[in-house]
Amino acid sequence: MLEITASHAAEVEGLPVRRALPRRGRRTVGPWCFVDHFGPVPPERSATMQVGPHPHIGLHTVTWVLEGEVLHTDSLGSEQLIRPGQVNLMTAGRGVAHAESARSSAGLHGAQLWVAQPDATRHGPPDFVHLPELPELEMAAGAATVLVGGLVGGPASPAPYDWPILGASLALRGGGCSLALDPSFEHALVVLVGRVEMGEQVLEPGHLGHLAAGVDELVLQTPELATVLLLGGRPFEAEPLMWWNFVGRERAEIDAARAEWEAGDARFGSVATPLERIGAPMPFWAP
Ligand code: MN
Repeated sequence: MLEITASHAAEVEGLPVRRALPRRGRRTVGPWCFVDHFGPVPPERSATMQVGPHPHIGLHTVTWVLEGEVLHTDSLGSEQLIRPGQVNLMTAGRGVAHAESARSSAGLHGAQLWVAQPDATRHGPPDFVHLPELPELEMAAGAATVLVGGLVGGPASPAPYDWPILGASLALRGGGCSLALDPSFEHALVVLVGRVEMGEQVLEPGHLGHLAAGVDELVLQTPELATVLLLGGRPFEAEPLMWWNFVGRERAEIDAARAEWEAGDARFGSVATPLERIGAPMPFWAP
């Protein structure tokens, strides 16, 4: 049984997004703590994704595009174009900065996802990996591409992770789909294209369907072509404190990260991009 929540309409530097996580009453699904579904936007509007240098702490960013190309530039010196079927995974740890800009040629449709890092690694070094090819599982009704973690009895992604996690994109042709799940994980479905049915329930873009831990099989019906993200993991160790681009536990560490970004501190390095640096807003708890 899915617990369905409506996504929140938001904007990232002018690009409209459907924010499926976090929502009131649902802060995490496994270690997943942020899910933005952007697009589809036509080619003439795809260059609206121009996000200047901004900092992160305590998370991994996972970028997945169905259409379009996005250039990632970061303070580690990485400069990497991502295309459909690939993953960019950046680990923030104690601090990193990056910029993202979409190429205008091909439209834009995808998801920007964040994974909270556990206490064991969240103060560690930043990192970036580009995964040009990902393992796929062929199913009767389509294919599952594994972004991070592994499918039960199926292939696993080479992406690094530091908390038990699953991220997969299911491209379904229509008909019935069945996939084994790890019952120690909770899961969520976020539909990017089309719609999926689970029993009497229907899930469409703009919503998140949550499946509590204890479920060992996912059975979906798709009346037509559909693309759905399957996100899961072991229930997270803490309720993270998320503010702006920072994931932590206490206000004091968020305040310190904010002050260091605003001061141009070496903690976040510098990003080689013509895009303008994004200043931090004031937290709601500021005096
Ligand atoms: Mn970012």
